[in-house]
Amino acid sequence: MRRLKVVAVTHNTAPIPVRGTQERKGLFRLLEEKAKLVRRETVRLSRIAGAGHYTGTFSCAELFSALYHSQLRFRPDEPGWKERDRFVLSKGHAAIGLYPVLADLGFFPAELLDNYTRLHSPLGDHPDMRKVPGIDFSSGSLGHGLSVSLGMALAARVTGKEYFAYCLLGDGELAEGQVWSAAMAAGHFKASNLVAIVDRNQLSIDGSTETVMGVEPLTDKFAAFRWDVRRIDGHDYDQILDTFSDIKHRSDERPFCVIADTVKGRGVQRMELEKDWHVGNLMGADYDEVMAEIDAGLQPARSLA
Ligand SMILES: [Mg+2]
Repeated sequence: MRRLKVVAVTHNTAPIPVRGTQERKGLFRLLEEKAKLVRRETVRLSRIAGAGHYTGTFSCAELFSALYHSQLRFRPDEPGWKERDRFVLSKGHAAIGLYPVLADLGFFPAELLDNYTRLHSPLGDHPDMRKVPGIDFSSGSLGHGLSVSLGMALAARVTGKEYFAYCLLGDGELAEGQVWSAAMAAGHFKASNLVAIVDRNQLSIDGSTETVMGVEPLTDKFAAFRWDVRRIDGHDYDQILDTFSDIKHRSDERPFCVIADTVKGRGVQRMELEKDWHVGNLMGADYDEVMAEIDAGLQPARSLA
């Protein structure tokens, strides 16, 4: 008997709906639920592990949900599909929030999350491309992601493929010289299919970036390295989606940089812009309170004093 070949489904092939439409509102609701999933699961998995990276994951929850539910082209049933958009989580310590997104999409069984970081679990504190379907690069040693992403972008040119390479960077890792080597090379080689997204959450593990190692003016810096730069609110879906839509329709030969202004710890007020919640472990009543806060949705954010 002939077996029917199962055709893997490609995600995010439809255009992003424009502002003001019912389709856009529907997408908003979906993205809000998926960002809650990121935050809830980060809290739950941190308890399983005994500690977790809360704040640097919460700052990119909206970016994760928008990337995976409106932008990146991929096939969960065929993680190695050669035409897929590549995604490099250069700030690899936010993997705790990426795993639930991948499990939810069907890259691997959700039950694996229940053993997060335990002995023999494929899901470590930093992501392993050899063990986790959907992970394109083993990241977390900070400063490497943009170089790897540039290599992926240039490989598409050499092999005649049309995928994009996306790289999500932390703002703390911008202190690494290799980031700027990659930025310079990307501009020089006109890697127009390379998209760097900077999660500009204002803090690194040691405190304010502008105190530890100033990174501003970021727009001017990337522009000087011959990048096309857009600065947006990284928690505002309208701005994220408009930018994502433009990425797919631009004809510019420069690489594209999205500087996403975010709030470290966004969504849990006691953690917002508090450097000491970079890693933590909520238990008991604190755990329940934070889960309830996440379920209630985003409230007005705190600002850096
Ligand atoms: Mg940061």
